[in-house]
Order: sequence, then structure tokens, then C-alpha cells
Amino acid sequence: MSIKENLLKIKSTIPANVTLVAVTKTHPVEKLLDLYEAGHRIFGENKVQELVEKYEVLPKDIEWHLIGHLQTNKVKYIAPFIALIHSVDSWKLLQEIDKQALKHKRTINCMLQIHIANEETKFGLNFQEAADLIHSKELKELKNIKIVGLMGMATNTEDISQISEEFLSLKLFYDNYSKDSSFNFQLSVLSMGMSSDYLLAIKNGSTMVRVGSSIFGNRNYG
Ligand SMILES: *Cc1c(COP(=O)(O)O)cnc(C)c1O
Repeated sequence: MSIKENLLKIKSTIPANVTLVAVTKTHPVEKLLDLYEAGHRIFGENKVQELVEKYEVLPKDIEWHLIGHLQTNKVKYIAPFIALIHSVDSWKLLQEIDKQALKHKRTINCMLQIHIANEETKFGLNFQEAADLIHSKELKELKNIKIVGLMGMATNTEDISQISEEFLSLKLFYDNYSKDSSFNFQLSVLSMGMSSDYLLAIKNGSTMVRVGSSIFGNRNYG
């Protein structure tokens, strides 16, 4: 199937209130243009250099999301244009994003990445660390960032009940902050689910899914 057909098929499976981020990592700009021409505008990349290179050559009405681990020293390259950073996992990184956003007279939308998987390799804060960050009074001093939501990745397993439990744990944590208006930021985005598990993520409350291979086919890591 073509990229456009894949896109339409996925869109037909997700409710209107769920945002689809097309994960374009590793794919050449020609393929991204196919997706653009099919009408899609929200693209996600996991590496800063690749994201910037694609941003530079593609149409400027694309909304770029960074979904992968971000090193503090690379924030400056995306600060002028990034629409949403899904993967904030430290106070130091948040401070740097705020500093770079100020330089460009912008507010940068961020999400805290929460470690929900039963795997050592995935980045993210645990629930306690995220709660501490959300409640820290220093956070109020960062005027050029906005925490809009939370992101999580489930364990890479066939065990559907485990994946569901992991998504649900994040949904329950998220609910505390999406309903509590006393908190500086009211969370409104819950980024969970990729090609293999996005329907399960939506069942468990996801409002934003990050889908790559179901749109573009398998990535060739060769
Ligand atoms: C690559 C990636 C995805 C998309 O994965 P697919 O299995 O290709 O849909 C989603 N989220 C993150 C953080 C990723 O790095």
C-alpha cells in the first residue's frame, strides 16, 4: 500500500480527538513529501540533527515534534521552530529549553517522559520524580516553557495485559494533573502508543499516538 493509503487507514482507526504524529525517522525527505502531499502536517523525529536537516528542506507549515532523547547541548538547534518536545526527562533539560526559548522569544511546549516500561533501556522519569518536578516551585520561574502533557512507552512485549497496565498507570497519574487546576500547567496531552500498540494506548486514554512503521513500512537499519 502507498503511504497515503496507510495514512488513511490509520486515521480511520483513531477517534477525532486523538492526534496522529507521523514518525518519520530514518526515512528520506521524498517519503516525507508524499505524506505532506497526502495532507499530513505533524511529523515526529527522534534525533536532533536529522530533524533539523529535514526541517530545513521541507515546507514550513509542518509541525515538528521531537520524540527521542534530547541532550542539553542540542536544544539550541531546535529551539527556533520545534512545536512540541515529548521527551523531557530532567530539570536541567527543562531549564535549557526555557533559556533557548527565551532567546527566540517563544514559548516551547514540552511533555515529561515517564518511564513506564519494564525495561532498563527506555529513558524517562519515574512517577515520583515527575511529581516532584511538577510541584517544584522553581518550575514557576520558567516562563518560556509550557508543560502540556506526558509521554510514555510501554514494554516491547506480546503481553497485552502488561502493555495495558503500563498505559493505564500513566493515564491514572495524568488524570491527577489534567483535572487539578491549582497546578501551574493543566495537562491536556497524553502521548502513548506506536504502531504495535496504539489502539491499546487509545483504549487506555491516549490523546496522541506516534506511528512510524505502519505508515512508512519497516525502517531499514542496515
Ligand atoms: C520510533 C518511535 C516511534 C514509532 O515507532 P513505530 O513502531 O515505527 O510506530 C514512536 N515513539 C518513539 C519515541 C519512537 O522512537
